[in-house]
Amino acid sequence: MAGTAPTWLRPVPGGLYCAPGDFYVDPTRAVDRAVITHGHADHARAGHGKVLATAETLAIMAARYEEEDTPGRQALAYGEAVMVGEVTIRLIPAGHVLGSAQAVLEYNGERIIVSGDYKRRHDPTCARFAVEPCDLFITEATFGLPVFRHPDDGEELGKLLASRQTFPERAHLVGAYTLGKAQRIIVRLRELGFDRPIYIHGALEGINRIYTRFGIDLGELRLVMETEKKEMAGEIVVAPPSTLNERWSRRLPDPVTVFASGWMRVRARARQRAVELPLVISDHADWDELNTTLDDVGAPHVWVTHGAEEALVHAATERGFAAKALALIGYEDDAE
Ligand SMILES: [Zn+2]
Ligand SMILES: [Zn+2]
Repeated sequence: MAGTAPTWLRPVPGGLYCAPGDFYVDPTRAVDRAVITHGHADHARAGHGKVLATAETLAIMAARYEEEDTPGRQALAYGEAVMVGEVTIRLIPAGHVLGSAQAVLEYNGERIIVSGDYKRRHDPTCARFAVEPCDLFITEATFGLPVFRHPDDGEELGKLLASRQTFPERAHLVGAYTLGKAQRIIVRLRELGFDRPIYIHGALEGINRIYTRFGIDLGELRLVMETEKKEMAGEIVVAPPSTLNERWSRRLPDPVTVFASGWMRVRARARQRAVELPLVISDHADWDELNTTLDDVGAPHVWVTHGAEEALVHAATERGFAAKALALIGYEDDAE
């Protein structure tokens, strides 16, 4: 039997509020004191008073919001513990993007983990998801439906490399989210032996610089803006997804449009964006990873913050977890 769920962290308008510590985790509006799991804009908002996060996440927030000098920023290394009010806080890896963390909260003999966004598979650009037991595990469910099963990313990127061989005169324009996906694709291509320069949109420069500063080697990158059109024939270009259907892509020679996203499992989405080569590559857990994670963590209580909450709650309940959907407002299912 699950017993009663801890009551000292609760969903309120604006996010998850921890009363004995007087802080929020990933609040969706500006608050006095926030614990931030990772740098994606829907989790890491501007304008908080005090912020507790990994050094990587703080660097990403500083680059985005130009709040570098806020005195209330406190960096916490993975595994390091700090007391806030009566609550002990630790951050452990979530495997989602550089610096992403699960917030481990302990109070009164109970442990709650707020996992933020996460995935379980190999990603050379961030630390691997850590499993820790707890009384209450709070999970996302962005891809919380059985239809979402993500293939191996090496196989997906193999399709991109094969397409280059087939169309040596065309550039390959890969739409990839600016924080996390773009850098993961660049480094995975390096791991697969692709050692040519990779051409990038200027919007990636700031985040790329942070990855490099924290020791992630992206190899040789060149700016599309500073390159002649004809030089990019047969080359790989990485840019934000919005550029796929923008005038900007006309700088490239006859581009093959590629989009790397978990949503590419849904053919209608690929068609909507006129994607020629959809690649199913996600920084979120797929259906199997979500369910495996509940088993691995083994928390009797499970709350689901956003995404396809009802399906995951149903599956978890059938397997004996006391599960409930929070349907928190303000997190974007699309931010992947
Ligand atoms: Zn995220
Ligand atoms: Zn999210």
